[in-house]
Amino acid sequence: MTQFHRRSLFVGTAAFGLAVALRPAGAQAPAATPAGAPAPAAGPFTLAPLPYAANANEPHIDAMTMELHHDRHHAAYVSNLNAALKDHGDLAKKPLEEMLANLASVPEAIRTTVRNSGGGHANHTMFWQIMGGQGGEPTGELKAAIDRDLGGVSKMRDDFNAAGGRVFGSGWVFVTVDKAGKLALTTKPNQDTPLMDGNRALFGNDVWEHAYYLKYNNRRPDYLRAWWNVVNWPKIAERYAAAKAGTLTI
Ligand code: MN
Repeated sequence: MTQFHRRSLFVGTAAFGLAVALRPAGAQAPAATPAGAPAPAAGPFTLAPLPYAANANEPHIDAMTMELHHDRHHAAYVSNLNAALKDHGDLAKKPLEEMLANLASVPEAIRTTVRNSGGGHANHTMFWQIMGGQGGEPTGELKAAIDRDLGGVSKMRDDFNAAGGRVFGSGWVFVTVDKAGKLALTTKPNQDTPLMDGNRALFGNDVWEHAYYLKYNNRRPDYLRAWWNVVNWPKIAERYAAAKAGTLTI
């Protein structure tokens, strides 16, 4: 498994920094902290900086929302996950996707925290990667898979927005990808993730109020529609290729 995960570190460009953040410390040895990165947290997991400026998704997602979302909300998931793992050294060495796929084997005393904070770390790490783009349309093999499995890009977008709108309270809407490259639309409550089912999130949108309330107030459907303008399809295509190759981790 070690080789599998080391190889997976080099999928994509922005994936490098993100993947390092997801590896337990000691699983490999990144030589230096990138300039401007926050000081490493005391624990196996660290918060990678946003892969673009906080205002990169303006006007659709405002910089203040991005800053609070990454620097406070995501940071808290990382910090709480590390705190839970403090006295569980062997577990803390496992890659996050393995931990989340085997929650039943996590000690009961920390299982809920690993589920919520570990899920939150995984979901947000994916989320930052697949934004910062120009929207538009997917192409090539990814478009073909969306046509085949989800009825085309336009229907997929409508169904995704409708499903995201129906999530009661806090949660996520995802397009998942299995090892054969088959896509499916799903939602999850709280910080649950398709990783818990042994699948991968190809991409997903956060429908917690913290993701949109400053700009959109209670108008979640408006946020869901606007969000497609910042989706990074080339990055999602990289994730699709990695999923089919068996190298997509988070
Ligand atoms: Mn969030």
